[in-house]
Amino acid sequence: MTYSDSALDTVKVITIDGPAGSGKSTVSRMLAHKLGWIYVTTGAIYRTLALMLFEAGTGVQDRGSIERFVAFLSERYRQDPRSGRVFLGDREITHEIRTPFVSEQASLVAQDELVRRRLLPVQRKVVLDCNGAVVDGRDMGTVVFPDAPLKIFLTASPEQRARRRLEELRSQNLEPSFEELVREIHDRDARDANRVVAPMRPADDAVLLDSTELEPAAVVRAVLKLCADRGLIPGLQES
Ligand code: C5P
Repeated sequence: MTYSDSALDTVKVITIDGPAGSGKSTVSRMLAHKLGWIYVTTGAIYRTLALMLFEAGTGVQDRGSIERFVAFLSERYRQDPRSGRVFLGDREITHEIRTPFVSEQASLVAQDELVRRRLLPVQRKVVLDCNGAVVDGRDMGTVVFPDAPLKIFLTASPEQRARRRLEELRSQNLEPSFEELVREIHDRDARDANRVVAPMRPADDAVLLDSTELEPAAVVRAVLKLCADRGLIPGLQES
């Protein structure tokens, strides 16, 4: 399936790419809520596959497992479009896939060409049958939805990004050290930006936003203004 398939042509998509901790998922969720669209965080799909491979005691070198797990995931993976909770069949894995260990495993798995090729239709399938979708990831604007009418690349300073991850993990009763998180984020960024297949980078037509000094609500306002300017939604009333 390609993005130009007619089923996908009718879906409005806003892509939000950027490094770990840049605020992508918070902003995407808030934005989707405001627009009445669905929210899809594609990192959760890579994380789920990494968890499945780890639990099976295997890795990306096992091509048969990749094929089987992606087929299973394609049928049984579900992200609640409002809460962002993630399920594999009946099993909820929302928190399990957010640990630093799975973050690292996901970025290792995501370097593999077969994994990326097989997960492409899975990511596109999630947005079918909806009015509009806000999708976040690393290659949404460059590879998965290259025809999206609005593409954002969200960044923030490495320290600010590590602080945000720390807060998120504390809310799950995890307590990694700040230095450990800075290192994890640095290593993950380097892997994501330097991989051969679909490296993390802004699409040529992406709008770059720096969220270091901005609250999520301010980023959402900026994106809504861009949506209105591009005719994706009716004009906004200044308040
Ligand atoms: O966005 P999140 O931090 O959940 O992503 C986890 C990992 O999944 C990233 O570090 C990246 O390696 C991979 N990923 C990717 N392409 C995407 C989304 C995530 O390679 N579209």
